[in-house]
Amino acid sequence: MHDAPAPYSLLTDLPYEIILKIVEVTHPKDLLTIARVSKQFRGLLMHPTSASLWKHSLALHEPALPECPASMSEPRWAHLVFEEQCTFCGANDEAAEVNWYLRVRACKHCAKSCIKTSLQDGFRPLSDGTTSFERLIPSKLAYLDSMSFFAFGCFRSWSYLAADYEAVKAEYLSIRSDADRRQFVEERIALANSGRAHSHRCEIWSQKHQS
Ligand SMILES: [Zn+2]
Repeated sequence: MHDAPAPYSLLTDLPYEIILKIVEVTHPKDLLTIARVSKQFRGLLMHPTSASLWKHSLALHEPALPECPASMSEPRWAHLVFEEQCTFCGANDEAAEVNWYLRVRACKHCAKSCIKTSLQDGFRPLSDGTTSFERLIPSKLAYLDSMSFFAFGCFRSWSYLAADYEAVKAEYLSIRSDADRRQFVEERIALANSGRAHSHRCEIWSQKHQS
């Protein structure tokens, strides 16, 4: 008597078009699981040409998840949103929530070493001194309560990835002309602002998703 074939081997025997039809109505979390089942599925699902399939699957989810950020691939976005793994060390951690502003999930250990919270504005790149580097990168601004104000003399704090801060600072310092530096700052601020608007929509989605 022959052993019954594994379910996934039956699936991979189907015509490619049929597999796509099945996969595009599958929940993104299940797609991530399927991608781990076999090399064939991983090759199919992680190939850049499968982006539309992921988009379809992500759009089917209710309430509709905000669009995948331009800086991420759809599978990476689905992994961040639906799987409970630390972005930095890969450990499973149910308690690690998505930080929508930094687009990471961090376990306690990695949060300590990778995410920085500062009560003071950092390096100010422009001569008018109005813009600090925290505004040029994915970051979250939080307003502190009055007790913190009296204790620390600060009314707000920034949280961001230490690596993002160092990378943007190095890039800025490598630019020679004042005009180019100003343009760089303006472009980065526009990018960071649109990222924060997207993060805010994701936060609202997350609250609805949990309720
Ligand atoms: Zn970790």
